[in-house]
Amino acid sequence: LTQASSILIENIGALVACTGPAPRGELPTLRDAALLTSGDRIAWVGPSSSLPPCSPDLRIDACGQLVAPGFVDTHTHLVFAGDRAHEFAMRCEGKTYLEIAQAGGGIAATVKATREASEDQLVELARPRLQRLLAQGITTAEAKSGYGLELAHELKMLRAIRRLSLEGPVELVPTVLAAHAIPVEHKGSRDRYVDACIREILPAVAEAGLARFCDAFVEEGAFALDEARRILEAGAQLGLRPRLHADQLSDGGGAELAASLRAATADHLEYISDKGIAALAEAHVTAVLVPASTWFLRMDRAAPGRRLLEAGVNVAMGTNLNPGSAMSENLALTLSLLCLVNSLTPAQALWAATRGGAAALGLDDRGSLEAGKRADLVVHACRTVDHLPYHAAVSHARVVLARGQVVVDSPLAPCP
Ligand SMILES: [Zn+2]
Repeated sequence: LTQASSILIENIGALVACTGPAPRGELPTLRDAALLTSGDRIAWVGPSSSLPPCSPDLRIDACGQLVAPGFVDTHTHLVFAGDRAHEFAMRCEGKTYLEIAQAGGGIAATVKATREASEDQLVELARPRLQRLLAQGITTAEAKSGYGLELAHELKMLRAIRRLSLEGPVELVPTVLAAHAIPVEHKGSRDRYVDACIREILPAVAEAGLARFCDAFVEEGAFALDEARRILEAGAQLGLRPRLHADQLSDGGGAELAASLRAATADHLEYISDKGIAALAEAHVTAVLVPASTWFLRMDRAAPGRRLLEAGVNVAMGTNLNPGSAMSENLALTLSLLCLVNSLTPAQALWAATRGGAAALGLDDRGSLEAGKRADLVVHACRTVDHLPYHAAVSHARVVLARGQVVVDSPLAPCP
């Protein structure tokens, strides 16, 4: 919205910079603060009383309310075609996942629709989803392929992700998830598909510079541990850091595999074991919590967020926006669920959604508010961190800055 070379945010009631480690209690908070940007960076943060003389292009009144880093969504399936609302209705009627798959549903339905869509169509379909993420203060998001499951279509998805990222203002971090499911045409020849991933898809993706991470879904009905290991090791050889969909529907040893590969993240983790938790801590693998899908799938187990943090595991969050198990861009809902389902405190949830996420994606230029970092931040329409998840599933993002420019300026009134 703006073309400002500097912006001063003044009258900040509570500035939560998230510069330290995951909090055990409250997040360190600066009262009566100000923040000054220069270009795409933060130039100065501190108490209003010591603000240096400056003549900013633009002044923003924070109305005495909360300012925090821009959110980092570390797990999305943003790009897809088709609609699985009918499956949602079937699940509400009590149909099982297997019955839905047998009726032509599940990931296979999205793969079919995504293969039929052009790159332009995928971009058009994803753009409003991305705008909804941005409207809630998400300034960086990861996005995966995984509905192509064939070289040309995986590349098409990743090119759509790159185009959306270049459009901005949300920066997308791309992940190749060719190992999302065995495509139907390879059901009787899964080894051939694993080989195609290793010999064909991953080298082409790496060659085109279209992904930073390589992901795999380890689960009964998806990929076995040894298949995922071969694929992720091949990706790592090509410079694609491993990530893993792990221990979502059963304890399949996914966390331990992520640890042995020194993966960047292990995601989901509803069924992680104590051994798995210890392994993630020891190998410095980030646990990505995606509670919207725990809720959406009506699961009776949740990832043990607090226990992971207490074991010393870095914790991040994802909306897991996807057409099957979490059809929602609602970050505010995810923040509430991180507390209610994963047992994080509000302070820990905010930290996981900012600093923890930036660390998970290897982005040390954001996720905290300090001089020199990217000016990605949110002026919230509330006074305290606790209020964010407490006022459940409601976005409080009033003004959003990405790379030093105002990208959201909502008419949201400050909460009293
Ligand atoms: Zn996923």
